[in-house]
Amino acid sequence: MSVYDVIVIGAGHNGLTAAAALAKRGKSVLLLEKQSKPGGLAIGPSSATDGSSVGVLYDTSTVRTAIIEDLGLEQHGLERTGMRVPVVLLGREGTSLLLSGNNKETSERIGAFSQKDAAAYLKFRAFIDKITPLLSGLMNEVPPNVKDIGLKELWTLGKKALSLKMLGNETMLEFLRIAPMCVADYLNEWFETDFLKAGLAAPALYGSFTGPWSAGTNLNFLLHECLAKEEVKGGGPALINALVKTAESNGVEIRTGSTVTNIVVEGGRATGVMIGAEKIAAKAVMSSCSPKQTMLEWITPAEVNYHTEVQLNVLRSRGTTAIVSMSFDTVVQFRGEGQGMVYRTGNSFDEMERAFDSSKYREFSEKPLLEIRVCAEGKTLNILTHYAPFDLKSGWSDQAKAGLLDNVRAELSFYINGQATEVDSEVISPLDIEQEYGIPGGHIYHAEHAIDQLITRPFPSFMQYETSISGLYLCGSGAHPGGGLTCAPGFLAASVL
Ligand SMILES: Cc1cc2nc3c(=O)[nH]c(=O)nc-3n(C[C@H](O)[C@H](O)[C@H](O)COP(=O)(O)OP(=O)(O)OC[C@H]3O[C@@H](n4cnc5c(N)ncnc54)[C@H](O)[C@@H]3O)c2cc1C
Repeated sequence: MSVYDVIVIGAGHNGLTAAAALAKRGKSVLLLEKQSKPGGLAIGPSSATDGSSVGVLYDTSTVRTAIIEDLGLEQHGLERTGMRVPVVLLGREGTSLLLSGNNKETSERIGAFSQKDAAAYLKFRAFIDKITPLLSGLMNEVPPNVKDIGLKELWTLGKKALSLKMLGNETMLEFLRIAPMCVADYLNEWFETDFLKAGLAAPALYGSFTGPWSAGTNLNFLLHECLAKEEVKGGGPALINALVKTAESNGVEIRTGSTVTNIVVEGGRATGVMIGAEKIAAKAVMSSCSPKQTMLEWITPAEVNYHTEVQLNVLRSRGTTAIVSMSFDTVVQFRGEGQGMVYRTGNSFDEMERAFDSSKYREFSEKPLLEIRVCAEGKTLNILTHYAPFDLKSGWSDQAKAGLLDNVRAELSFYINGQATEVDSEVISPLDIEQEYGIPGGHIYHAEHAIDQLITRPFPSFMQYETSISGLYLCGSGAHPGGGLTCAPGFLAASVL
């Protein structure tokens, strides 16, 4: 029986990245994927309304440049736009504002609403540029080993402290003041226009069980602002195409339609996987699936120590995102000036907070927060809808989905002109995401992006990718530095093996 150097479970973008990076170093790698094609969440569920891939309009600005270069993804067809994704912020009263990667132009457009905000925006971006090296360093490196601190670890920790100090006293103290804040307080210090503040803050709330007034949300906000660089043309599917080509050209064997049912552990060490009755042997196993699924579903309970089991059980991964797809008979026209491909609502911190409140009581928002991605030449809207809690009190019945859809329709009516008639619609709940992708809680980042789960991800004893089982590693969104399209967990995990 042949023994692979590494078996990687899951051909989402992190599994593909890890497999490609390992194979590039000469390892023999088998990549197993249960779906019929690679891509995982990055290609998104197909919109049932027109069959288009929801992933085409994902924000890919956080895919790491250094990884693109290291893996040679551009030689395999990946193209970048040179800027982060342009987003149109929508206000209730028919106002709109295009936020683009061109700061000067964005500031001028903000000036139509507030001269004070226009000037503040340029200062704010300059501050973000100052702290970017610090946050990029933290989010693009293997976290220091804080379990067994020896000389090497002290050196790594010392370098991290130095990068904080290198900001200069004033910026360092400001960073320490603002990182644990709530995003609402922080943006209120800078700006006065409500829908601008709400639109800027929204990405900090995606994938977390928080509202704008929740403590710690500002760290999420700063991370997003510092790490969003250049969009990949063609979104998630284009990224996946380039990763598949790179992986295959480095010799990775990709087997789709292969559902891992168990991880084999012998003498406390991972030695392979089971696909039903078939055993495949390997010197190491790397899982890009969620930490809970990997450790609690695929390993015999006796092999998981009590401490690990407790940590896994308290890891929070309740999804709050539903995907609503709506098709229309004609191109949908948005109110306001700028027409684009991605639109965001929010209006004000108070409205966002009220939208979040419902999820605390296991209900979906009456006035949901929408990120609208326009597909199919303008006739289909794929809408990331917040908040739609996984553990909905009434359960995710057809009736519940119809209720959420009605709330989305009512909210949307404020932002689009009435000419287009809806011809089809679909709601994908967090429960559907759990069932299709096997992610417990149906969380789009595998585990919440909360401050504690970002600083040590998924939790302290696993933060250097190796689990409590020797030879078993995590390399997906549940590992450092977290979810979203970055390729970073896959790449960093590969580097420690
Ligand atoms: C609708 C939607 C919109 C999003 N929008 C954005 C966005 O705009 N920007 C952004 O940065 N992020 C976005 N995200 C989040 C982002 O797509 C994910 O965080 C990321 O793709 C996760 O990648 P991954 O490789 O870590 O995990 P996954 O993509 O979940 O990959 C895990 C893979 O493992 C496979 N698998 C599961 N069980 C088994 C098994 N038993 N055997 C073998 N294989 C198995 C799964 O099929 C899957 O392919 C969005 C997510 C969704 C759902």
